[in-house]
Amino acid sequence: SHNLFEIFANRMQQRGDADFITTREGRRYSYADTLAESARLAGALTELGVASGDRVAVQVDKSPEVILLYLACLRIGGIYLPLNTGYTGDEIRYFLGDAEPALFVCRPQVHEDARAIAAETGCPAVETLGADADGSLLDKAARATPRNEVVPREADDLAAILYTSGTTGRSKGAMLTHRNLASNAETLVDAWRFEAEDRLIHALPIFHTHGLFVACNVSLMAGSSMLFLPRFDAEVILEEMPRGSVMMGVPTFYTRLVADERLTAERTANMRLFVSGSAPLTAETHEAFETRTGHAILERYGMTETNMNISNPYDGPRRAGTVGKPLPGVEIRITDRETGEEVPEGEIGLLQVRGPNVFIGYWRMPEKTREELLEDGFFITGDLAMIDDHGYVQIVGRDKDLVISGGYNVYPKEVEQVIDELEGVQESAVIGLPHPDFGEGVTAAVVCEPGASLDEAQVLDHLQGRLAKYKQPKRVFFIDALPRNTMGKVQKNELRQRFDATYR
Ligand code: ATP
Ligand code: MG
Repeated sequence: SHNLFEIFANRMQQRGDADFITTREGRRYSYADTLAESARLAGALTELGVASGDRVAVQVDKSPEVILLYLACLRIGGIYLPLNTGYTGDEIRYFLGDAEPALFVCRPQVHEDARAIAAETGCPAVETLGADADGSLLDKAARATPRNEVVPREADDLAAILYTSGTTGRSKGAMLTHRNLASNAETLVDAWRFEAEDRLIHALPIFHTHGLFVACNVSLMAGSSMLFLPRFDAEVILEEMPRGSVMMGVPTFYTRLVADERLTAERTANMRLFVSGSAPLTAETHEAFETRTGHAILERYGMTETNMNISNPYDGPRRAGTVGKPLPGVEIRITDRETGEEVPEGEIGLLQVRGPNVFIGYWRMPEKTREELLEDGFFITGDLAMIDDHGYVQIVGRDKDLVISGGYNVYPKEVEQVIDELEGVQESAVIGLPHPDFGEGVTAAVVCEPGASLDEAQVLDHLQGRLAKYKQPKRVFFIDALPRNTMGKVQKNELRQRFDATYR
């Protein structure tokens, strides 16, 4: 059988009493505990009526027990379906209606509302799981008959449905198979040299591919351990670094660490690897982090639909501003956004990927699946990219964020980089807004450094001579902060809405 859990179960047996997940409050699950507890939870799921092939929707706060639930779900051949903890009741109604889970696991505080939504959407069972190892699900597990067998699965059977972040539109449910998850975890263990002795500092959310599959599956595959932190807190992370070996973070983790004077080479001396992804890491942050600690952050590129595709090397240069080369087993090509033909090397085009890591389609969206998942197996990522002189991939931005002004393509990142060089600018976002003459008008939203003040003319002056006229923003707006989601992704849709009327 190809149930991913079987591979993990081997590690659990081999690693026995070694730590799998620990917390600062002293909770600890060894690998042996994980094997036993996942069997109890598997028993509870079965008693609740969850059968193989059923979906289990989960919207709960981060805790080690959530990972036990994920493992129990795999174990019985269920389909794990985590949901962003930020989703509101209306959003949950949509997701439950769309996914039709056999069970919804929610936070204890919202039990009543969750039951009402489950009733409306025809979800037959609701249980709770709290961050302090409380809630009805664990009570049931404690009384359940442990289910020790592992339900056989084929490589192409679904292991999880993971909703995309919704940065460019409504979130889509990516259907991920046992093969998808197993192959990527194996690849990353090798690529990033994970060993059983590793200790991962885990401060990411676990409803997203980065914190769930990249971090947890890689740790399980390597038999290594994780310190689970509820959220990013620079102070806590700096305190834990002498006892950690790897950290995975979104770029905002690193910009915040760099801003903290306690980040030093000494403090990071025990760490062997810092990984960044989910959003672009600026070359500036990459360089500042290296200067301070001696560690070159390893930036990689992936997405909900594919897990990880491209990575800077473990050995060899990690180039700032790039995401590296395709991982073993992953093929990429860069195509013209109009014709679909491959572009000559060095030119910008749509990035497509193919490999055992690529999902099998969007849940209940056959048309969207056909548009983005091509017959030859390549998936259109929706990101624009180019391969540079070193053969490294540079992500240029999202295709949907490309601005077409007066018939010319303007790549926001290029403009943002020039704006960001100006003294007093902390960061910027360039967007296209409806414009009667140009189709779209290039527009910049700028965040000033604390204490700095700039005006529109100063920004525009700075761009004169540095960028072709058609790339220069027609308007510059100053805002307090860029709108970002929990994964550090800039929400350009929000900016487009906010400034929509500018040229109308
Ligand atoms: P949606 O697909 O719903 O619009 P989303 O694309 O933000 O949302 P995710 O799957 O969470 O959902 O994010 C994947 C995207 O994150 C990639 O397509 C890419 O745009 C971005 N990304 C991930 N890693 C990097 C990176 N290292 N550099 C730049 N962008 C990255
Ligand atoms: Mg996407």
